Amino acid sequence: MADHVLVTGGAGYIGSHACKALRQAGYVPVTYDNLCTGWEDAVKFGPFERGDLLDRARLDAVFAKYQPVAVMHFAALSQVGESMKEPGKYWLNNVGGSLSLIEATVAAGCRNFVFSSTCATYGEHDNVLLDESVEQHPINAYGSSKRAIEDMLKDFESAFGLRHVIFRYFNVAGGDPEAEVGEFHRPETHLIPLMLDAIDGKREALTIFGTDYDTPDGTCIRDYVHVCDLVDAHVLGLKWLEDDKGSRVFNLGTGSGFSVREVIDHSRAVTNRDVPYEEGPRRPGDCTKLVSGSTRAGKELGWTPKRSTLDIMIADAWRWHQNGHYDK
Ligand code: UDP
Repeated sequence: MADHVLVTGGAGYIGSHACKALRQAGYVPVTYDNLCTGWEDAVKFGPFERGDLLDRARLDAVFAKYQPVAVMHFAALSQVGESMKEPGKYWLNNVGGSLSLIEATVAAGCRNFVFSSTCATYGEHDNVLLDESVEQHPINAYGSSKRAIEDMLKDFESAFGLRHVIFRYFNVAGGDPEAEVGEFHRPETHLIPLMLDAIDGKREALTIFGTDYDTPDGTCIRDYVHVCDLVDAHVLGLKWLEDDKGSRVFNLGTGSGFSVREVIDHSRAVTNRDVPYEEGPRRPGDCTKLVSGSTRAGKELGWTPKRSTLDIMIADAWRWHQNGHYDK
């Protein structure tokens, strides 16, 4: 019988793509999701168990039912702006929820844990390319909550031998080229899907958050990575744990940074449509530049991004945007 992997947040954007990749790699992904931001229609590749991370009894029952060989923990609140306004939500759901999940994992005797962390844990580092050794000084509650969970994992490894792979994501974009699943948030806050909405008239105009940053064109710079490449790294991370290679942290980015204005220019070229936008003030909590300077995932996991050019990411997102929405 195929091994089960418990995927928290499997009904969300990245989690649903991870379920597809796990299925293709021969595992059975079991989605555990409370649907606070996810979509039941996105659960297509394995069983669905609706539940909250803070519901320990429900978690224990799901562990007992499937006896997963590993946990992939995607479920989290992930909006930088919101985290600045409602930090308690982030500490309760992300940190409290992860504590409940990690304790349930250990209690069930499962020892392999793959965790979605973020480059937002690094914070501001003047023009430095970020590798895994850079000190973590998050400047928003979202980043702080993820850093706290990283610390928690280290403590649970010391006490209980819970082995973990931590992935610090840069900006995840694009979607399944077959458009079976895709990026769909309500409300949407991410740059590329918002821009596609503006392009086809679903919203009036994109607002650029800040044009006075210390970058060549004044807008923030991010390192965009295709969601399919990102989830491929997770399957490699799972194999890494199954091969007993020990706990490890990996950045997942390409090492190339693009400004908001550059993303707009590429979107115009890929869609062959005008991008209506206006310039607005900075969004609290945004770092000037977040670009990976690490080659560790390539060297150690054998990870090679295949679709992480800006044009492919925008084209894949555009295809999904035009054809596939969960609420239709
Ligand atoms: N951004 C923007 N307008 C928007 C949404 C985002 O200018 O409506 C900018 C944001 O300030 C950041 C970049 O686009 O510099 C990526 O933001 P996103 O929310 O997609 O991801 P984050 O970097 O916050 O994880």
